[in-house]
Amino acid sequence: MQEVRIDAVPLQRLELLLPPARVEMLEQTAVHARALLAGRTVWNLNSTAHGGGVAEMLQVLLSYGRGAGVDTRWLVIEGDPAFFAITKRVHNLLHGAPGDGGELGSAEIRHFLEVSEANAVVATAMIRPGDVVLLHDPQTAGLVAPLVELGAHVAWRCHIGSGMVTRETERGWGFLRPLIEPAHAFVFSRPSYVPEWLPPERVRIIAPSIDPFSTKNVTLEPAEVGATLRRAGLVDLPEDGGSLAFGRRDGTTGSVREHTGLLLGDRPIPAAARMVLQVCRWDRLKDMSGVLTGVAARLGELPSDVHLLLAGPDVRGVVDDPEGAAVFETCANLRAELPAPARARLHLALLPMDDPDENAHLVNALQRHATVVLQKSLAEGFGLTVTEPMWKSKPVLASAVGGIPDQIEDGVSGVLLHDPNDLGAMVRLLGQLLGDPGRGASLGAAAHERVRDYFLGDRHLVQWVQLFDAVTA
Ligand code: UDP
Repeated sequence: MQEVRIDAVPLQRLELLLPPARVEMLEQTAVHARALLAGRTVWNLNSTAHGGGVAEMLQVLLSYGRGAGVDTRWLVIEGDPAFFAITKRVHNLLHGAPGDGGELGSAEIRHFLEVSEANAVVATAMIRPGDVVLLHDPQTAGLVAPLVELGAHVAWRCHIGSGMVTRETERGWGFLRPLIEPAHAFVFSRPSYVPEWLPPERVRIIAPSIDPFSTKNVTLEPAEVGATLRRAGLVDLPEDGGSLAFGRRDGTTGSVREHTGLLLGDRPIPAAARMVLQVCRWDRLKDMSGVLTGVAARLGELPSDVHLLLAGPDVRGVVDDPEGAAVFETCANLRAELPAPARARLHLALLPMDDPDENAHLVNALQRHATVVLQKSLAEGFGLTVTEPMWKSKPVLASAVGGIPDQIEDGVSGVLLHDPNDLGAMVRLLGQLLGDPGRGASLGAAAHERVRDYFLGDRHLVQWVQLFDAVTA
């Protein structure tokens, strides 16, 4: 078990962007929270300190919590590859996908409980009776019972779901149900994700949020965007540069192939090209390969200055995402089989994860450089990769799955792809967006407003405190 450091950030930073009524609400909530939580710690437990939407949000919200005078702490559980293969299977099942076809029988339950038990030993030595604990996602489900037994106030927070009841979702919930049932509260991103057997009075709906001041979202000047992407070797290297340079933390550069194999492309994306971007984890349900196949097959329908970049974390050696490397490899193989002219406009990049700040900065620059951002997921819990470019006033074309339609009002603050398997429609809608920059700009402006109104951290923090009220009552 690893503890993640949290720096205090004053609420006033966020308040700069908020209308007076929301500032007032946040300040009153902070006063109440300090009184309610005096002498207690608010713990969050999940399975990764960086990469993925949950870690992203915790970093920010826990910092504001500290800034507001609440003792917030964050623990990352440990597990072996077999444990994470099981939880990934459960994750996929909850999304309604078939998982990987593997078993979730007694051997898997036994292993899951063994790993959970080892984590529980550490957690129960740190957490005290009366503390508040938020456990995130299936990986932490085995900690519910030990922490309830300890006398902590425990909420289990599920960031995923499909809104469907199928054989797959039933299998996933069948695994989790006995583990999570003892929790005092359950939190979901959308009402449709709540299994019907949970007692409604213990269920809360809290949508995710983003922070405008995080490295991922902070305003970047165009020159900085350009410099970042150039340094990363992603965009605009001299034609005769030969090797692709990537900025290292010591400020030097080196060949991408030599050092990291980051960009799969014969050349970086030309500076003058319009970039269509999908940046997300290499997860089957994000359907990077579908985007690649669809665009490759219909490249002629898109303006000739358009390039596609599919970017995701460097998946080599990442323990809690066993599927990632396989998904990336599928994309790389698909790309390798394309004719050279298509390959020259279709790019794949692995973004380094060793320095989370550097990674976030790069994602920020990519989202800002993009002309259109795609998120063609087959299933999606919420989709921060939609929220983030919306905040950056980008037109986003995304599948109408999971939490995405909560964010994008079709044709107003973005464009929805109603059938995520319809690659023809994807390219047609993309072509329409690229063909009408004025429309893109107005969709982007509305997208920014939408995020400001509904998906910033003040709303999230207020809802957290309401949850703490409920679990400690
Ligand atoms: N992300 C990142 N680096 C990457 C790919 C993704 O930082 O190389 C971030 C992305 O910007 C977003 C989060 O990971 O903040 C993904 O959250 P989302 O809700 O979209 O999906 P999840 O990965 O949780 O399923």
